[in-house]
Order: sequence, then C-alpha cells, then structure tokens
Amino acid sequence: MTPVIALVGRPNVGKSTLFNQMTRSRDALVADFPGLTRDRKYGEGSYEGQRFIVIDTGGLTGDEQGLDLEMARQSMQAVEEADIVLFLVDGRAGLTAGDELIADHMRRSGKQAHLVVNKTDGQNPDIAAADFYSLGFASTFLIAASHNRGIRSMLEILLPSEEDRAEEDRADRYPGIRIGVVGRPNVGKSTLVNRMLGEDRVVVFDMPGTTRDSVYVPYERQGKQYTLIDTAGVRRRKNVSEVVEKFSIIKTLQAIDDAHVVILVIDARQGLVDQDLHLIGFVLDAGRSLVIAVNKWDGMDPEDRARVKEQVKRRLDFLDYADKHYISALHGSGVGVMYESVEACYDSAMAKWPTNRLTALLQDAVAQHQPPMVQGRRIKLRYAHQGGSNPPVVVVHGNQVDALPGAYKRYLENTFRKVLNVTGSPIRFQFRAGE
Ligand code: GDP
Ligand code: GDP
Repeated sequence: MTPVIALVGRPNVGKSTLFNQMTRSRDALVADFPGLTRDRKYGEGSYEGQRFIVIDTGGLTGDEQGLDLEMARQSMQAVEEADIVLFLVDGRAGLTAGDELIADHMRRSGKQAHLVVNKTDGQNPDIAAADFYSLGFASTFLIAASHNRGIRSMLEILLPSEEDRAEEDRADRYPGIRIGVVGRPNVGKSTLVNRMLGEDRVVVFDMPGTTRDSVYVPYERQGKQYTLIDTAGVRRRKNVSEVVEKFSIIKTLQAIDDAHVVILVIDARQGLVDQDLHLIGFVLDAGRSLVIAVNKWDGMDPEDRARVKEQVKRRLDFLDYADKHYISALHGSGVGVMYESVEACYDSAMAKWPTNRLTALLQDAVAQHQPPMVQGRRIKLRYAHQGGSNPPVVVVHGNQVDALPGAYKRYLENTFRKVLNVTGSPIRFQFRAGE
C-alpha cells in the first residue's frame, strides 16, 4: 500500500521546495483534471524502495476568506486523504499567527500531523525549533529543504520499515492477476469495469473497500483468477447515500502501484490528450505493464477511426511494445480479446529467467554490437542475472558501466525484450561495477 503524504503550511515556508526534493525525477502530475482544483499538486517519490505519493496542498494562511476558503477546504480534504501529514513552518521567520491558526485547524480535524521546521540551514537548529514547541506537536523534524538536508532521515522514520511492508502487503492478499483500470474522467472506466465483471462466465466475489481506497473485486473467468482494481468505484454505488468520487488521482496512483497489469482507457472521441500521456508516464514510472484500451470505438466513422489510429501510432510510438485495443465498453466489442494481452503482460511482468540464459543473451548482444571505448578502454559487460519482477529487473555486471551511453542501454532493452518475448512491460536494467 503506497502511503500518501500531504504537505501543509503557510505560503513561502518551503512546501514546493520540499515537494520537488521528495519527487525529483518527473514533473508533478498537476491536478488539472476537470473537477479538481489546480491548487493541489501530486507527485510520486521513493525512499529505499518504498514508494510514496506526495500532495502539495497549496498555501494555507489559517485565516481564509472567499476564494482562499475554497483552497483551504481543498487542502483539508487532501489532509483527510493522507496517511502522513507534514505541517511545515519557516525556521527563519519564527512562529506566526498563521501557523497557530493552521495548527489549530489540524488539531480540530483530529488528524495527527508532524511538525517540520524548514530553513534550518545556517542556524542553530535547536534555537530555530524552540519557537514552535508551544504548538504542542508530538514529533518535530528539522530540515533544510533547499539543501536537501534532513529529508532522508525524516522519511526513514515516517515510512514503514521493510519488515512492516513485507507483513502488510495488502495487494498480495488478492488472488490472481491484479488488473488496474485507469483513465481520465468519463473515458468509460465504469462502463468497462461493469462490462468485464458482467460477462456471463464471470463469478464475482464482492469485497468491501474503504472510503478512500479503490475497490478490489476478485473474480473468476474461464477458470482463471483475477482481481479488478476499480478506481471509478462502481461496485460500491449500491449505497445511494454514499458520495462516490468519480475520479481521484490518489486512487489512480495506488491502483497502478498495486496492479500487475494496468489497462489505460482512452476516449476515442477525444483522441489522445496530454492527461492520458501523464497517466502513461505514471504507469511507466511505476514499472507496471500496460494495455491501452481506446474506448467508444462504436459508431465512429471511418475517417475518424483512421485519424485516431494514426494519432495513437504517432504519439505512442515509444510504447510500441504495448498492445492497443480498439473497444466499445458499452457494447462489449473487443473486451474479451483484451484478456489475451492482460495474460501476456502478466507473464512478462512476472517472468523468471535463469542466470545462464540472461548471461548468454548479454554476451550475444555484446558480440553483435560492442559497447564503446571510454578513455582508451572498452566497457565490458560480463554477466547478468535477474533482480526482481513486476517490473522485471536485469542486473548487468561489468566494468566502467557508469559510462555506458543511454543509446546502448536502449539497445540492450530492445534486444532483451525481443528475445525474451516481453510484452507490455518495461524491463529495468541495473548496472553494477566490479570484476
Ligand atoms: P511554498 O510557498 O511553501 O511552496 O514555498 P517555496 O518552496 O516556494 O519556498 C519559498 C522560498 O523559501 C523560496 O525562495 C525557497 O528557495 C526558500 N526555501 C525553501 N526551503 C529553504 C531552506 O531550506 N532554506 C532556505 N534558506 N530557504 C528555503
Ligand atoms: P468513467 O468516468 O471513466 O468511469 O466513465 P463512464 O464509464 O461513467 O462513462 C462516461 C460516459 O461515456 C457514459 O455516458 C458512458 O455511457 C459513455 N461510454 C462509456 N463507454 C462507452 C462506449 O464504449 N461507447 C460509447 N458510445 N459510450 C461509452
């Protein structure tokens, strides 16, 4: 289960700076989805193999009115959704009335928050922190976000330890192939989920979810076990009094993390849009295998179909290893055959390859196409073994591996993908130096 960390605090205390340090690699998935405000920013990070989701809530002043009030409401909603709440204050500015108001809000919300004193660089940290002890938080962290100081040790304490993780790996309690159905609002996720679960031969074992989480629906189809991760929450709409959030980035990110295979649904009537590419980026970052479902294919005229296919081919050129299906969730066409891709993706994501096979493959690849010379010495790649699954990880041992160019790494990935017949899933390579 991927923990969700919310950052709250006044403007200028360093929330964005901390957010960027924690998420680093890729641009944040900005919440510019219809129905969500722009004030919340979502990103993913990882610490020692533990992935987490960060929400930057936009500034709170503690004394909101008008538009600010709406923003504050959104921030408090993010706080509600979070597992860990970090309340940032500015160690240079000292305690302000705004801090006190926000601390008061937090106390009344009943959500346990951790106090984070930022900008402790160039100061005596104990003195910087002393001002804030009167706020009465149980735990305090001292950091300097812009200097990347104190952040790792904070995460070390806040995130579950490796042992805890092994014990409570919630996703593993669900049987069979876990399929996450994700996509923008209104692309047809609910319709697809209903279609997949409504087929004649499907036996659904209903399981209750919690408010925030996606619904995990175990089922059997043609004698095989699956668990559908339903981000749209259709399976719970039985209870009319319940407010079902139609789209949630947190649910989407968690569904991706928990899945073996992600079906990303695209609306053919709208074509491929930037938000689709954003979501694809998240699936790839998480290392999950991917099936693309271009939905609402029914009743489209031939020119429009040709145009959408051309666009998908062009913009998803980098995903040539993932299957694309043109389906109608409404009528059910194309949905059954999608299972063949799901199976192939799962087999690829979970494949186990013996060391001698990977090593032979590496040596063949090197013989076909030598790595370059660096400072008069040729980069040597000696042997390979598997380092993990979902996504499959290939660990390559050699020397001067740090100098291996990106183009060569891509050559290796393509070669391994072809020979090992890997569909839909990325292959991660790790390079280790040493004789
Ligand atoms: P936000 O409004 O809470 O998101 O704050 P920002 O992240 O935009 O930071 C506000 C200002 O504080 C920027 O000028 C940052 O460079 C600066 N800042 C952030 N973290 C630190 C820090 O650890 N030390 C110092 N000296 N400045 C920082
Ligand atoms: P979600 O927000 O992604 O869960 O989308 P929904 O499943 O609620 O679908 C949004 C709208 O698209 C609804 O009006 C659906 O009836 C319609 N829709 C979904 N799938 C299809 C399809 O395959 N063809 C057509 N024509 N409409 C569809």
